[in-house]
Amino acid sequence: MTEEMRRAELADSLREVRDRVDRACLAAGRRPDEVDLLAVTKTFPASDAALLADLGMTEFAENREQEAREKVAEFAALRPEATVRWHMVGQLQRNKARAVVRWADVVESVDSERLVEALRRATANALDAGERQRPLDVLLQVSLDEATGRGGCRPDDVPPLADMIMRTSDLRLRGVMAVAPLGGEPDVAFATLSVISERLRRDHPEAVEVSAGMSGDLESAVAHGSTRVRVGTALLGGRRLTSP
Ligand SMILES: *Cc1c(COP(=O)(O)O)cnc(C)c1O
Repeated sequence: MTEEMRRAELADSLREVRDRVDRACLAAGRRPDEVDLLAVTKTFPASDAALLADLGMTEFAENREQEAREKVAEFAALRPEATVRWHMVGQLQRNKARAVVRWADVVESVDSERLVEALRRATANALDAGERQRPLDVLLQVSLDEATGRGGCRPDDVPPLADMIMRTSDLRLRGVMAVAPLGGEPDVAFATLSVISERLRRDHPEAVEVSAGMSGDLESAVAHGSTRVRVGTALLGGRRLTSP
C-alpha cells in the first residue's frame, strides 16, 4: 500500500470513529468536545502515527515500553514540528519507570504504591537531568472485576493511592482508567467506574479524567461519563500480533 492509500484509509476510519463518538455524545446528552480521542498505535508503525498527526490527531497511546520508546523517537524524526502527547496504557513493571518517563506525557496504568514510588523517583530524576520538562500526568487504573491479570488496582485502593500521588510534587493525578472485563457487561463496568470517579473527585476535584471505552465499547463508555476513549482497531485496523 502506498502512503497516499494509507492516508486515505486512515482519514476514512478517523471520520467514522469521530462520528461514533459524536453520536454517542448526542445520545448521552453530552457535548462532543467533552470526549477526547486517543489513538492506540501499538503494533502499528510510526508512519501511521505521523499520518494521523497530519489528520489532526494529537493524543497517542502505546502499551509496551520498548516498542513505544522506539516509535516516539521515530515519530519525532518524521514530524519534528508536531506537538503530540504520548500515553502509556499498558501494564508497567517498576524497573521500566526510568525509561517510560523519558517519553510518556501520561501514564494511565498506575495501580500500586510501588509503581507510584518508582514513577515519582524516575520523574524527579528525569526532570533534574533535563530528560523531561514537565511533571508526569497519571491516571489510576482500576480493575472492574476480581481478576487483576490485566492490571488495575481494587476500587478500595483508589483513595490511598490518590493521596500518595497528591503528596508528590512531580506526579499530577488526572483521574481514572479502566478496561471493561472480558466477557462482562460493559455498561455495568463503566457505571461502576463512574461511581469510583465521582468519589475520587470529591476529594480531588482536579482528577476529572475518565479514560474508558475502546473500539468495541466506546458508546457504552461515553454513556457513562468517559472523557477519553482509547481506540486502536477501529482506527488503524486489526492487529496481526497479539498484544496484551
Ligand atoms: C489495545 C488497547 C486499547 C485499544 O483497543 P481496541 O479494541 O483495538 O480499540 C485500549 N486500551 C488499552 C489499555 C489497550 O491495551
